[in-house]
Amino acid sequence: MTYDAAIDAALQRLHDEGRYRTFIDIERRKGHFPAAVWTKPDGTEKDITVWCGNDYLGMGQHPEVLAAMHEALEATGAGSGGTRNISGTTVYHRRLEAELADLHGKEAALVFSSAYIANDATLSTLRTIFPGLIIYSDALNHASMIEGVRRGGGEKRIFRHNDVAHLRALIAADDPAAPKLIAFESVYSMDGDFGPIKEICDLAEEVGALTYIDEVHAVGMYGPRGAGVAERDGQMHRIDIINATMAKAYGVFGGYIAASAKMVDAVRSYAPGFIFTTSLPPSVAAGAAASVRILKTAQHLRDAQQTAARILKMRLRGLGLPIIDHGSHIVPVHVGNPVHCKMLSDMLLDQFGIYVQPINFPTVPRGTERLRFTPSPVHDAKQIDHLVRAMDALWRHCALNRAEVAG
Ligand SMILES: *Cc1c(COP(=O)(O)O)cnc(C)c1O
Repeated sequence: MTYDAAIDAALQRLHDEGRYRTFIDIERRKGHFPAAVWTKPDGTEKDITVWCGNDYLGMGQHPEVLAAMHEALEATGAGSGGTRNISGTTVYHRRLEAELADLHGKEAALVFSSAYIANDATLSTLRTIFPGLIIYSDALNHASMIEGVRRGGGEKRIFRHNDVAHLRALIAADDPAAPKLIAFESVYSMDGDFGPIKEICDLAEEVGALTYIDEVHAVGMYGPRGAGVAERDGQMHRIDIINATMAKAYGVFGGYIAASAKMVDAVRSYAPGFIFTTSLPPSVAAGAAASVRILKTAQHLRDAQQTAARILKMRLRGLGLPIIDHGSHIVPVHVGNPVHCKMLSDMLLDQFGIYVQPINFPTVPRGTERLRFTPSPVHDAKQIDHLVRAMDALWRHCALNRAEVAG
């Protein structure tokens, strides 16, 4: 009984702070993204528009991606049937890794169950490969990187978000002979700001540190072939390990790293999170490979997405809403209170059929709660217009502030 009481108390804490998470039961309609159907708790259905998905380019309904998945499914069946080492490596996995290595201009790539696992498994394993490794980690790195750094168990330093001077000072205080790795992101998805890739690569070169970048929110989206912000900025060749996902802009599932053949070989050989788990279903690997290949040349989709983001920001800013704008594809609107944030999200869904999930602590710091919109090429002018009118009405109804948050 005391166990039950402890569970109740843990859940009650979340309710008290207004950050208990409720899942919304939605089903997207293939061929009609971002349209979806919401099944309410009472079982009734309502047509809605998804405004918070990470399938940024609508690739999850791309006919060629689906065709590749169908073909692999028909050819080999549902699952892979094993770990990569024991019967779970197929031609689909090898093709996918070749596609990813080519995307990033690296010798090799290694596919994991997700980018979360790729971050966690790789960062924690590098400690085994490089004894005495010190990891310098950006303060706003994703939970999966934090977990990997923590579980690795070695020395770690947290530098203030995007503060290269602070990073430099931390490095200067350590043994120059110690192996070092700087871990950061290219697009921080909650504010939509960019990491200082060139400055960090310059510093890493100067002090002889390895670089590790999470391009999860950038692959498919930035760079002439969709390899990410490091590609766009001409820095990709300077990054030692690139981490990303096939589940966001690529619209499918799975994560990976791309690096030198030697680095990939070592991680492949030592990382428990890679070794002791069943490989991706071949159909998933086939779909992901198709999506990566398609987006290497689909600049029009990237352009359309950026245009949609610019229009939405311009219109929300026109209403005086406190948007956070760092020039990326993500459109966060600052609310600053978990209860208000949840309430706005509920009203958007109930009254306007607009689905945007409230983003509360611990995903973002307390006091910075927000609604985070992810426009895409599949959101049309009418849907943008509907969203903008709804936000205007709710902001007025709830008498919320219209001050701009510094971008
Ligand atoms: C979503 C996310 C991940 C995890 O990616 P999955 O493939 O969904 O596990 C890793 N890093 C960042 C920054 C993310 O936002």
